[in-house]
Amino acid sequence: MKRPVFAANWKMNVGPGEARTFVKKFLSRYKRHSDRTVVLIPPAISLTTLVQSLLRRRDILVGAQNIHSEPKGAYTGELSAAMARDGGARVALIGHSERRHVFGESDSATAKKCRLALENGLTPILCVGELLEQREARRTGETVLRQLRAGLAGVRPNQVSKILLAYEPVWAIGTGRTATPADASHVHQLLRAELAAFSGSARVAKSVPILYGGSVTEVNAEALLDADDVDGLLVGGASLDPVRWSAIVST
Ligand code: PEP
Repeated sequence: MKRPVFAANWKMNVGPGEARTFVKKFLSRYKRHSDRTVVLIPPAISLTTLVQSLLRRRDILVGAQNIHSEPKGAYTGELSAAMARDGGARVALIGHSERRHVFGESDSATAKKCRLALENGLTPILCVGELLEQREARRTGETVLRQLRAGLAGVRPNQVSKILLAYEPVWAIGTGRTATPADASHVHQLLRAELAAFSGSARVAKSVPILYGGSVTEVNAEALLDADDVDGLLVGGASLDPVRWSAIVST
């Protein structure tokens, strides 16, 4: 039986006031389920508001969209892992495609961020995914494995059970195109085999949730989640509407 993880990446949407309204509407539809994990990942300004709005719903976790690759210091505008944890985040997205491709985040930065997340009690969701040209050149496997190995450089083999992965093909993010369940399953199997090699344990690799992300909606969620090795969903656009999001997390 799967225990799926549903994570909502709100990107640069939903300020504190809207976050309070979202929570009211969402909680009126989503009752506590012990067989799944729900994570809301707001912009940093809404983190503590969301945590406070969810005080009576500890089953719903809150995450940070990004943390800085250094622990503290003169990095104007940035958020450290320790501050995110102090503000109530339990999870941190690392290496999201927009961080990599819009903000130029390097593979080595993702390793430092994974390490800092773990040191500060945050669960990293390490995101990997290929560009359209890499897919068309049949370099999907090579690309995602390179990104995974680079991120794992910040993780000790005995910490693998403390991370999550997300496979998000860049061509599928916000485009209305999704990987087929079979394609997602294939890539997730590659990632899991790499986790097994790195941790030295197929059992540990099996326990790591690997989420699929890229134009997930309430319509395609079930088929994607049914695919082998797809353990959850990372959702952008469709998570901004509490009605659509409650339909997705009820899949
Ligand atoms: C994302 O930003 O992680 C994402 C998957 O976005 P969307 O669902 O809008 O494609």
